[in-house]
Amino acid sequence: MDIQQIMVIGAGQMGAGIAQVCASHGLDVYLHDVSEEQAENGRAGIGKRLDREVQKERINDADKERILRKIHPSSDLKNAEEVDMVIEAAVENMEVKKNIFQQLDDRTPAHAILATNTSSLPITEIAAVTRRPEQVIGMHFMNPVPVMKLVEVIRGLQTSDATHEATAALASRLNKTAVEVRDFPGFVSNRILMPMINEAIFTVYEGVSSPEDVDEVMKLGMNHPMGPITLADFIGLDTCLYIMETLHDGFGDDKYRPCPLLRQYVKAGWLGKKSGRGFYLYN
Ligand code: NAD
Repeated sequence: MDIQQIMVIGAGQMGAGIAQVCASHGLDVYLHDVSEEQAENGRAGIGKRLDREVQKERINDADKERILRKIHPSSDLKNAEEVDMVIEAAVENMEVKKNIFQQLDDRTPAHAILATNTSSLPITEIAAVTRRPEQVIGMHFMNPVPVMKLVEVIRGLQTSDATHEATAALASRLNKTAVEVRDFPGFVSNRILMPMINEAIFTVYEGVSSPEDVDEVMKLGMNHPMGPITLADFIGLDTCLYIMETLHDGFGDDKYRPCPLLRQYVKAGWLGKKSGRGFYLYN
């Protein structure tokens, strides 16, 4: 299947990154969010990141302009009537995602593939709200999208081979490596990563250590490039909490219970880097 026109839903940190990578590889992209302002902000953030790439002489001004021209901010789902594929990267909430997929099913052309960048939610359940479950798939990019090579490709129970092949081909076109995984809570990446982050937050909660020292132990002792508390701030503490809740509900095992301190930070609006404060402070 020839994918040329794509819509990315959610112009936050992941959606903007996905739109940037798609546009850099020649795709026309609608970057869609709940308001024109949010969508424009997403595109402006991409412009700033590309400026840094120009400063580092990885691309030139003409490349930057060419990429930005391919990204069209959108707040009207009518734009989905023209696309070959949608990659949804809105908030990690099943009701929000189901609502988006129902609307996309009504609006996108019959051939369009509907992918979700969900970190942990069941693809099979999202697919079931559409009349084309065989064309629904998980395409889980890593953060920051322009840098990280991996895409977990998650097949729901109903996903067809053709949808899987087209999605894996798109990942290759974006210069990513696709790894196929089955549809179980947290897939592979977050089933392993998120309990480690949650446990790191427990060590802070129980007074075993400070965020700085937990990060130092994991960086110097385990050779992790970034400590787990810094990584949690970077991912977004709300997203971390949603994923832990999905693991807890999905497996029914208390070993996945979210740390109360994580819940409290999210309630306070301390969501990490994106809100200016998490376990650390950001300008
Ligand atoms: P974010 O909070 O930075 O951005 C979410 C965006 O979605 C916001 O701009 C919000 O306005 C928009 N949005 C919310 N409801 C919407 C709707 N109904 N229609 C259109 N837009 C809507 O979140 P993020 O970190 O970019 O995460 C987005 C998705 O990607 C989540 O499913 C998350 O689990 C997944 N993900 C996140 C990471 C990460 O490291 N943050 C990594 C991989 C996958």
